[in-house]
Amino acid sequence: MNLKHLTLKHYRNYAAVDASFSPSINVLIGENAQGKTNLLEAIYVLALARSHRTNNDKELIQFGSEFAKVTGLVERRTGTLPLELVISQQGKKARVNHLEQAKLSQYLGHFNVILFAPEDLTIVKGSPAGRRRFIDMEFGQMSPKYLYNLAQYKTMLKQRNAYLKQLRFHQAKDLVYLDVLTDQLAAFGAEIIVTRAALLDDMAKFAAQVHSDITTAHEQLTFKYQTQVEPDARHDDEQAYEALSESFKKYRAREIDQGTTLVGPHRDDVSFIVNERDVASFGSQGQQRTTALAVKLAEIELMHHQTGEYPVLLLDDVLSELDDMRQTHLLRAIQNKVQTFLTTPSLDGVAKEMIDQPTVFEVHQGELTPLS
Ligand code: ATP
Ligand code: MG
Repeated sequence: MNLKHLTLKHYRNYAAVDASFSPSINVLIGENAQGKTNLLEAIYVLALARSHRTNNDKELIQFGSEFAKVTGLVERRTGTLPLELVISQQGKKARVNHLEQAKLSQYLGHFNVILFAPEDLTIVKGSPAGRRRFIDMEFGQMSPKYLYNLAQYKTMLKQRNAYLKQLRFHQAKDLVYLDVLTDQLAAFGAEIIVTRAALLDDMAKFAAQVHSDITTAHEQLTFKYQTQVEPDARHDDEQAYEALSESFKKYRAREIDQGTTLVGPHRDDVSFIVNERDVASFGSQGQQRTTALAVKLAEIELMHHQTGEYPVLLLDDVLSELDDMRQTHLLRAIQNKVQTFLTTPSLDGVAKEMIDQPTVFEVHQGELTPLS
């Protein structure tokens, strides 16, 4: 799929933008603080109805304005689809094909993007929470059901934690109510784990392929999904539910004692293993970067595999973070396949790698001007 056209109104430092893009590579050139990341963010927001940089939507509204509006024309195999998102003090309104969507979950999934920023290069070494966020963003775009289960799980988890605190401080003592909450949490949790296990398996296959293409030595990348449910029970909702319920039973006393939920997919993690060792602990910096790049490129392939279309790729300042070999690999992998928006302070050392002529825009003080 690709983004044909974008308009912005009062979005961050853009008063107004009205631009058409190439289905191949779009380069945004500009000095610091001119609005390059803001533009990629706007595209991301159009796809996911939320920013990757902030949880506070109001920050997206241009200083001194009442609302921010992002509209786009997305070209998909099934046709061209207009999307619109308006953010105001009252909240957000989302339209698909000019029809307002009562639920945000109905808006998501029409336009898929993958963002790659320098901090993604730390995904291997970073916190488990960062890896969970990455997994949820990715899988959520591919499966509305996953998003739904995740939202339900989070709500139940909050309730259960609040109740565990009450039990801990003897403000409540009804253990049957705890069982009810636990049971619901286990049901949603099990579905999350089963989806994660399946999609991580698929993604690992793509990542291993990319990884072996980028590395010269005989290095083999595998994923290790770390979750409460043992591998043999991860592929079936019912079995995962039984296993998770069993764990909750085992941890019950400790959970009441600590006033919080100690097991479940909110504690999940994934490790990346190269030649049987965890890259986070034993990999060199180069190996960690190669792994991160392989994981990112695998995301693109997984999205294609799951939805039948390639997502749009947003590369924020990553080329300068990669050496020549990794840059070339990245650009080759996306060439003629994936519509890409990339930001860079200058074209030096970027254009020569590309087979296609990129479409170039200049970003200067909140204005976007086509240069080619
Ligand atoms: P760099 O190369 O340093 O990453 P950039 O071109 O990516 O720079 P952006 O992050 O896109 O820069 O833009 C930053 C600018 O946007 C800052 O000058 C900031 O003050 C401005 N900005 C951020 N939010 C708003 C807002 N809500 N209204 C107006 N301006 C904003
Ligand atoms: Mg930036």
